[in-house]
Amino acid sequence: MNYCVVPLHDLYPHDEYSERCMCVPVVEEFENSAKLYVHNAFDEREKDEQIVARLMEQNNKIRLWEKRENANGGKNGETSGILRSDTGRDRAD
Ligand SMILES: [Zn+2]
Repeated sequence: MNYCVVPLHDLYPHDEYSERCMCVPVVEEFENSAKLYVHNAFDEREKDEQIVARLMEQNNKIRLWEKRENANGGKNGETSGILRSDTGRDRAD
């Protein structure tokens, strides 16, 4: 038996159980020769998901940084580094 993961409400239909689908799906083959076809969305929603994942990861780093700062008595010490945003401004500004 084969399985597929197909994006809902996509721009175009997928060839669900084919490696030749135009979205270039990732195909995983299991020991029992079953295949899993994971399709990519034509509307490129994965890019948004990657951005969200990156932001969430970044947010976790900020939380870790804040925890470390709190552990240091809340001091903005020289050794703990400084967190900058893409605006180039320091966090404390
Ligand atoms: Zn596809």
